[in-house]
Amino acid sequence: MTEPETVVARARVVSATRVSPHFARIELGGEELADFGVDGPFYDQRFKVVFPSAGRPAPDLRAYGDGWYSVWESLPEAERGAMRTYSVRDVRGVGADRRLVVDFVLHLEPGATGPASSWAAAARPGDEVVVVGPRLGADWGGIEYDPGDAARVVLAGDETAVPAISRILGDLADDVRGHAFCEVPTGADVLEVVAPAGVEVTWLPRDGAGLGERLTAAVLGCLGGLGGEPVPDEEVDDDLWETPTFSSSDADLDEPADGIPGLYVWIAGESKVVTTLRRHLVDDLGVHRRQVAFMGYWRRGVAMRG
Ligand SMILES: Cc1cc2nc3c(=O)[nH]c(=O)nc-3n(C[C@H](O)[C@H](O)[C@H](O)COP(=O)(O)OP(=O)(O)OC[C@H]3O[C@@H](n4cnc5c(N)ncnc54)[C@H](O)[C@@H]3O)c2cc1C
Repeated sequence: MTEPETVVARARVVSATRVSPHFARIELGGEELADFGVDGPFYDQRFKVVFPSAGRPAPDLRAYGDGWYSVWESLPEAERGAMRTYSVRDVRGVGADRRLVVDFVLHLEPGATGPASSWAAAARPGDEVVVVGPRLGADWGGIEYDPGDAARVVLAGDETAVPAISRILGDLADDVRGHAFCEVPTGADVLEVVAPAGVEVTWLPRDGAGLGERLTAAVLGCLGGLGGEPVPDEEVDDDLWETPTFSSSDADLDEPADGIPGLYVWIAGESKVVTTLRRHLVDDLGVHRRQVAFMGYWRRGVAMRG
């Protein structure tokens, strides 16, 4: 029998640390994570977490390998729990000591929280979730960062993209040049990152400014643009996912355009903010769709489905 490409593991909280007002760093461990990993850098590797419903155990999906999703979907709602997507911040240890580090954004305003944020805010050692992700030695996918031979990279995102940007920065070769822009809720949410000397990291605390305002201005400013009027709500795709190889809006990725030579751009965060940046970069600044990844990681007012 061939080994599945997916690791479906029960994982337990080993430690939970509030590293800033809006970030909880949670280390998940357990021997079933032993094979979780990729053969190269993680970059923006994503994976799924299934959080148990209140008072219930996490669903046991371990037996289903690559077919886990249809089994999970067919479970009664109360047994299914909630599934959300997260980024690898770090992986430590080997074998039974394998630990997966996840930086969870806490958004705890009444009426605007969800199962993942609530779980992370209350997580204690021993709490259990199900992790679904890449298996060492297999080609599971889930990494979008792909600058090709670009000489300059621009990374940009809000707090939900900070874990992926931090991991990408830590995985870059020493000679990479570019900028990283990280918008976070407050000045106290600026986290420590390791980056190559040629990549300038700029933190953009909102401290009361509107979501995406500072990020949009900084990214457009860096690429020589102005303005940044937000797109209307009705033009926002909640599941925005536009990469050099995939378009959630069926855009023509091969549309003839010169692009900006030597540039690669990676942008993730709230879908309306990312849609606004996409429009300005592609329509006004002439960035070619093949040199940029625009990813909606969440949508204000919308509960994610996984
Ligand atoms: C590829 C990928 C990687 C991701 N990596 C990370 C990561 O490493 N860390 C991380 O924290 N998130 C990450 N996210 C985002 C995370 O999956 C979403 O924020 C998710 O909606 C959180 O689920 P929830 O159950 O807390 O809220 P949901 O049930 O999805 O939403 C409930 C309410 O909370 C609001 N909401 C959701 N997220 C936020 C937020 N960040 N700030 C304010 N309000 C919010 C929604 O608008 C909605 O009104 C990633 C998403 C993707 C697609």
